Amino acid sequence: MFARFERPERPAEGAPCLWWKVSLSIVIISAAVILADEAYVCHKKTTIQRAPDQYAQALPLPPPVDRRVPPVFYGKVFRSQGRRHVDHEVCLTFDDGPSPTFTPAVLDILRAKRVRATFFVVGRQARRHPDLIYRAYAEGHAIGNHSWNHTRRRWMNLREAAAQVDKTAKLIEEITGVRPTLFRPPFGRVRNYPMTNVARFRYNAIVLWTVDSGDSAHASAQEIVQNCVGHLRGGDIILLHDGVTHREAMLKALPQIIDAAQAQGFRFVTVPEMLREIECSP
Ligand SMILES: [Zn+2]
Repeated sequence: MFARFERPERPAEGAPCLWWKVSLSIVIISAAVILADEAYVCHKKTTIQRAPDQYAQALPLPPPVDRRVPPVFYGKVFRSQGRRHVDHEVCLTFDDGPSPTFTPAVLDILRAKRVRATFFVVGRQARRHPDLIYRAYAEGHAIGNHSWNHTRRRWMNLREAAAQVDKTAKLIEEITGVRPTLFRPPFGRVRNYPMTNVARFRYNAIVLWTVDSGDSAHASAQEIVQNCVGHLRGGDIILLHDGVTHREAMLKALPQIIDAAQAQGFRFVTVPEMLREIECSP
C-alpha cells in the first residue's frame, strides 16, 4: 500500500554545532553585559546631576579656593619645585580612583579634617562612578587626569596616547564642568612617554610626587604614616592611592598623616594652590 514513512535521521550532534551555540551564547551575553553597563552609566550620569548641592549644603567645607592651574605651568613637569618656594604647605594626592569602596571614606576623612586634596582619576573608573568625581569636585578638591585605563604598556602610537588623555579629560569636563589641566602619567612615566607628550601639548601641568607613601597591600598603617611624615618638607607632594584594592591600611593611616603633618606646622593645599603660590613667590 503505502511506503513506510521513515523519519529522516537527525544530523549527528557534532562538535561544530556545539561550538556555534557556545560562541553565539558568549556573544549574546557579552552584548547584554555591555548594554547593561552603558545603561547603568547613563543612569548614574542622569542621577548625579541632581546630587551635588546636598553635599555642599550639608558639609562644613573650608572656603572656596581657585583651582585653576596658572598657565605658566602648562606643559611643564612639576615634581619638587615647591620645596624651593613653599615653606609650610604640602599636597595630598590620591591616584587610580575613584573606587566605590575607598573614595567615599577618603572624602569623609578629608571633610572631617577640613583638608583639601588632589585626585588623579582613571577615566574608566570615573565613567563607572561619576558621582564620586562630582562629590570630590563639589567638596573643593582638585581633579587631575590619570589616563583612561592606566595601561602598563610603555609604547603606544600618538593616536592611542591622545585617546587616553582626551577621553578622560572630556569625561571629567562632562562631570565637573571644568576641563582638567593637571595630568599625572601612569607609573610617573615622563621621558619619551607618548601619553605625557600628548598631555603637555594639551596644556596640562605634568604633576609627579616627592613623597611615596608606599601604601601597597603589604604596608601597615604605621609604615605608611612614617613614609609620609617622617621627613616631610614644605612643597612636598605626597602620593597615596584611593583606587582599586587593598587600601584599608591607607584609610587607617590618613587621619594620622593629616594630624602629624599639621602638628609639624604644615597646611594641606591642592596642587593648583601650590602652583599659584610658587608662581607668586619671588
Ligand atoms: Zn596610578
